Amino acid sequence: VIAGAGFGGLTCARGLKKAPVDVLLVDRNNYHLFTPLLYQVASAVLDPGEIARPVRQLIRPLHNADFLLANITGADLEKRELLTDHGPLSYDYLVLASGSQSDYFGNASLAKHAFGLKELDEGLALRNRILMRFEEARWTDDRELRRMLLTFAVVGGGPTGVEMAGALAELTHLVLSKDYRDLDLGLVRVVLLEAAGALLGTFAEPLREAGRRSLEKKGVEVLLKAKVADVTASSIRLADGHEIPASTVIWTAGVRASEVGSAMGLPLGRQARIQVLPTLQLTGHPEVFVIGDLAGATDGGASLPMLIPVAMQEGRHVAATIKYVLRGYGATNFQYKDPGIMATIGRNSAVAQLGPVRLTGFLGWLMWLGVHLVNVISFRSRLVVLVNWAWDYLFFDRPIRLIVRAADDEK
Ligand SMILES: Cc1cc2nc3c(=O)[nH]c(=O)nc-3n(C[C@H](O)[C@H](O)[C@H](O)COP(=O)(O)OP(=O)(O)OC[C@H]3O[C@@H](n4cnc5c(N)ncnc54)[C@H](O)[C@@H]3O)c2cc1C
Repeated sequence: VIAGAGFGGLTCARGLKKAPVDVLLVDRNNYHLFTPLLYQVASAVLDPGEIARPVRQLIRPLHNADFLLANITGADLEKRELLTDHGPLSYDYLVLASGSQSDYFGNASLAKHAFGLKELDEGLALRNRILMRFEEARWTDDRELRRMLLTFAVVGGGPTGVEMAGALAELTHLVLSKDYRDLDLGLVRVVLLEAAGALLGTFAEPLREAGRRSLEKKGVEVLLKAKVADVTASSIRLADGHEIPASTVIWTAGVRASEVGSAMGLPLGRQARIQVLPTLQLTGHPEVFVIGDLAGATDGGASLPMLIPVAMQEGRHVAATIKYVLRGYGATNFQYKDPGIMATIGRNSAVAQLGPVRLTGFLGWLMWLGVHLVNVISFRSRLVVLVNWAWDYLFFDRPIRLIVRAADDEK
């Protein structure tokens, strides 16, 4: 049983394709989400269907695999059962791969008012909110109110925050400026707040600086050493008392592992990640593996980052381990091979750090485009994404700026 059909879980299932096992993938969503482009759903570049694929379609080539749509609530390790709202599922081997969630660090005002950017529906909700604020601002006479409606605060200067802020600034200045000819778009503020002294803290110093300069050129106000204290429906207050009137706050500053680890009462490390052996097994339960964001795996003493290559390599490793164990061999230690990191700041600008190679500006952007296009989950999505990107690039247009509200589906 593989708990979670994200990057780790799906890769593990694929790795078991030819193994003499039956695989059951369990997920609360019936799709696999390509998270790196979620901010493009929020900023009206891409539609949800272009960055998500049905799990059943993805496992069609895996003749030993099936899928169950269910919410995982825990596991009974003694009985060897995964607990779900669909009932308990017996397993011989269990792979826990339920990823991570937004962490508001216990701040109730953030949890209530800020938009997370982890799930597909959060991306859509954010797109609706941004577009709604422009509609409201257009017909508001009060200048201060208009300014508040048109102020978007992105919290967290990591890659997701930087990408979201850049995309929002471009949506406003390049696309919406044509829709709202009678609205003073000089009132629009995109503010990126980072608690540390630099953006993109995991990148080398020159890349951090290049990223900041590029964002500022696109009209983003970057506030460093800005720690958020609380948020209301109309403002964001910093720890130093400074207050910014803003009606949309996007939270990308904190992530912790999914609640499955704590529900199981397992020993947790930093960011609530489950402590694992170097083989990715649970101590005392060699039949249970943990991978991806949920796993507190380390490399040379340091925690491995919550990144796709980590989750995929771990998924592959666990699949190989299960095959070894079935043949009577022991489990081996996992070793991470770092392929590098990158972040785009918008049109013609990105930073990429690939071993000794460092790219910024247009070259970095070309590299970012290529890598993301190749990795989008299916050939069809790749084509549609390419067409949308080309359309946006050539015509400064994002036709997907639709406000789509969910109808009551409780009928
Ligand atoms: C906006 C954003 C952008 C990102 N950009 C990048 C990037 O550019 N590059 C990069 O390397 N990483 C990026 N990441 C991080 C990357 O998405 C994660 O590291 C990666 O997805 C981890 O893989 P995983 O398999 O552990 O979890 P996931 O891929 O998140 O999969 C977990 C799965 O478990 C399911 N699940 C969770 N809880 C339950 C439950 N209780 N019951 C049932 N199912 C459950 C979820 O629905 C999901 O399908 C980004 C993340 C976000 C949010």
